[in-house]
Amino acid sequence: MRLEEELGLPPIINASGSVTRLGGAPMPPGVLEAFHGAASFCVPLDQLQGVASLRIAEATGTEAGLVTSGASAALTLGAAAMLTGYDIGRMEQLPRAEGFAHEFVVAREQRNGYDHAVRAAGVRLVEVGFNEIVAGSGVRRTETWEVAAAFGPRTAGVLYVYSDDSRPPLQEVVDAAHAHGLPVLVDAAGELPPRRNLRAIAATGADLVAFSGGKALRGPQSTGILCGRRDLIGPAAVQMLDVDDHPALWSPPPHLIDKTRLAGLPRQGIGRGFKVSKEEIAALLAALRLFLSGAYDRDLPRFHQCLEAVVQGLEGLPIRCRVLDPADGESPPLLEIAVDEKAVGRTAMEICRRLRAGLPPVYVGHAALAQGKLLVHPLHLDVDQARLLARRVAEEIRAASRSS
Ligand SMILES: *Cc1c(COP(=O)(O)O)cnc(C)c1O
Repeated sequence: MRLEEELGLPPIINASGSVTRLGGAPMPPGVLEAFHGAASFCVPLDQLQGVASLRIAEATGTEAGLVTSGASAALTLGAAAMLTGYDIGRMEQLPRAEGFAHEFVVAREQRNGYDHAVRAAGVRLVEVGFNEIVAGSGVRRTETWEVAAAFGPRTAGVLYVYSDDSRPPLQEVVDAAHAHGLPVLVDAAGELPPRRNLRAIAATGADLVAFSGGKALRGPQSTGILCGRRDLIGPAAVQMLDVDDHPALWSPPPHLIDKTRLAGLPRQGIGRGFKVSKEEIAALLAALRLFLSGAYDRDLPRFHQCLEAVVQGLEGLPIRCRVLDPADGESPPLLEIAVDEKAVGRTAMEICRRLRAGLPPVYVGHAALAQGKLLVHPLHLDVDQARLLARRVAEEIRAASRSS
């Protein structure tokens, strides 16, 4: 019996990409093999994370790394590490951070729902700057001097949410923060590919960088990477790993956790709920290796084929199709279907709702509905599913045109 039948859930067509809501990215066979392989042996998790640290450090050009339960967990752990360092009294106190510096400066225009993960560690975010272009009130965005002007005795770090278009430029923010002896935590969850971002973001000197493991890396959905300074990765690891051991027996790998800097063995930390299994760690490392090898680039022709099949299936309808093909040669193409809402008599939002409610449920990308556009991401599609998706979209458009 197929698993979907046993669970009583119909399989869906996922044209939304690697989103968490729909289960993330498909894991390639090599990643699943690593997952299965790890299930058949036991290993001290701190030692496995020690191996992961070396691999991640090599892949990112940083000193150390940690496999986390997603980029969100990496942000909480990274923020916690910046608040506590190796101070176990502070670790015990989190998320209450009174009594020591616990403010992070952030550009107001970079605020987003995921920064709850940073606040969860006990950080208070201090917003600076404006995006006067979006506000329609001017020509400038947040500038580096505004970040620096907010630094004070309560500042513990800077949160930076990375994208190609982020302002102020990361390098300037890192330089300004370091001039004040402050660390920078970068949320780069969805910034892979391109492969070069694995190194380029940390190469600015950013102290900690968080990536998702379950997006384009195609590791387990519930994994992520935190990489950067060894003296911060150590405290992050301590606050995540199970530390129910005798201080005299506990011997974590010294390149991951510097036991000599701890006044004792801390209790279970703020990240204890973010545990990562040995299977997930092994699978994430396999995914990282595949991603680095360029193996995923071989899927690009299939992605284009799928989007072409959708375009063909929609010919003659009151819509406009456009394939957006990122110039980096690594990122998947995306199909934008602009619905002529007047001619169709139905909004893109309504079509999207009906696609989800049909059989099979079809989940198209929903980021541009306000502009009357459906998006098709090919990561989870094969050509048959692409044709079926086109048929469902065409049905909803024709049904609307008939009834109006
Ligand atoms: C996806 C995302 C996250 C969360 O990543 P997970 O790996 O799902 O925890 C955080 N920040 C940004 C900007 C994201 O896009």
